[in-house]
Amino acid sequence: MALAQHAKRVAAEFDYGKEDLQRGVAEFIREMDAGLKTEVATLSQIPTYVTAVPNGTEKGLYMAVDLGGTNFRVCSIQLHGDTTFSLTQSKVAIPKELMAAKTSKELFSFLAKQIEIFLQAHHEEHYASHVERKRKGNEVAEEEIFNLGFTFSFPVKQIGINKGLLMRWTKGFDIKETVGQDVCALLQEEIDLLHLPVRVAALVNDTVGTLMARSYTSPGKTGTLLGAIFGTGTNGAYVEKLDKVTKLTEDKNAGSYDKSTGEMIVNTEWGSFDNGLKVLPNTPYDIALDEATPNPGIQMFEKRISGMFLGELLRLALVGLYKDAAVPLFKDENSSQNDISSVTHVDGNGPLFKPWGIDTSLLSICAGDQSQGLRVIRQTLEREYGVSAVSAEDAEAVREIAAAIGRRAARLAAVAIAAIVLETGRLEKSTGVVEEDVIDVGVDGSLVEFYPNFEEFMREALRGVEGIGEAGEKRIRIGIAKDGSGVFEILWKWEGIKNM
Ligand code: ADP
Repeated sequence: MALAQHAKRVAAEFDYGKEDLQRGVAEFIREMDAGLKTEVATLSQIPTYVTAVPNGTEKGLYMAVDLGGTNFRVCSIQLHGDTTFSLTQSKVAIPKELMAAKTSKELFSFLAKQIEIFLQAHHEEHYASHVERKRKGNEVAEEEIFNLGFTFSFPVKQIGINKGLLMRWTKGFDIKETVGQDVCALLQEEIDLLHLPVRVAALVNDTVGTLMARSYTSPGKTGTLLGAIFGTGTNGAYVEKLDKVTKLTEDKNAGSYDKSTGEMIVNTEWGSFDNGLKVLPNTPYDIALDEATPNPGIQMFEKRISGMFLGELLRLALVGLYKDAAVPLFKDENSSQNDISSVTHVDGNGPLFKPWGIDTSLLSICAGDQSQGLRVIRQTLEREYGVSAVSAEDAEAVREIAAAIGRRAARLAAVAIAAIVLETGRLEKSTGVVEEDVIDVGVDGSLVEFYPNFEEFMREALRGVEGIGEAGEKRIRIGIAKDGSGVFEILWKWEGIKNM
């Protein structure tokens, strides 16, 4: 059998058809509703206490810091009130030894120090005198204090706008003492020791920040419905009717929140959707990948969609084909039935044979290669992945399988978007005016930003969902929301509470 046919067979294993899509959406909606009522659902549906989205007229100067993985980002943002803003930012790598420090103080004092350095560098004239006064024990006027949003992308149990207990560290962090502690208080303590005029006003989730930033900058009057991340991981936050969030409205111990809008942003934590695999596809490659992770059986939706995993799915599929003696992938075709080792074109110690050796950016390269004979794919495999003399047929096989993995990921992403559009009933309302009927979705993350067909694959799937169809899909506007995400969340959380 020719290589092309083998590649088609493997690609077909990643098919996610119309019926699968339909079942996925139905289950997603069911889990959304379950998560709004109880704590026992694969969708955590975390109430964020944010009860409105910006409309672009907001003004003011705010700060945001972002601790999400390898870097710590500090920024200040001036909102001009006309859907535009100016941003000043700095970024510093977190020293490895602090990620696994003995005490929380070691990490948080480092973070506070970065805030001080940022203020000195970018807001010296404005704030030096205030810092000085505070140091001497004098009062600092309320309007002189910077309200700061703390984007903290680790699982936290949020118990108020600026209060959240760390549930567990992820992404290589491991400071035992911090687990169970309020991360906002830890940061505020260190800020106060440096006498900085900064108040940790809001604990911010990156998806909520994406939703808020998109809502401020996107044109139109409708407000954004959903903010979604497709980067290292995947997650989404959306605007829900408050009376549906019964696990909050009926909880006597819940913190206070503004009820006047009748809405609340809910953080779905959809990465863990269908961990029990009732409806998600499960190829042998998905199974092998899951087994190789430190958290098997967990984050099953994420493991089929996000940047951290798609490269590895491709690697597993390619290694599977390569190891099959009957398949002439990266081998000399004539002798492929005989001794593979003598005719192989692959470096046995190269990235192809190392777990996590293929980066998801290879899928984007494959999807974007328009060159004659797939020259770009061939060069990339040769230069970065330890394969020599890549033939056009090899490159075509890799392209075909990579496309199938990317397409499946985008169709699964569409399951989440479709479910949220349908569950919130947004399509049922129509004024007939095109601009007012827009359902706005803000997205962020390298996958959606750089994978060439991600949005088109999502749209193709959305058109196929019952209840959305072509007419519904046209109403969904998807746009990248970047930068300053944290700021908009503080604006509403802190200013909203102040005005209550
Ligand atoms: P994070 O989600 O950590 O904030 P990103 O949004 O940049 O950061 O996502 C990083 C992830 O995106 C990594 O898993 C990486 O493999 C993947 N990635 C990086 N570049 C690309 C690309 N060109 N196409 C698709 N995925 C990419």
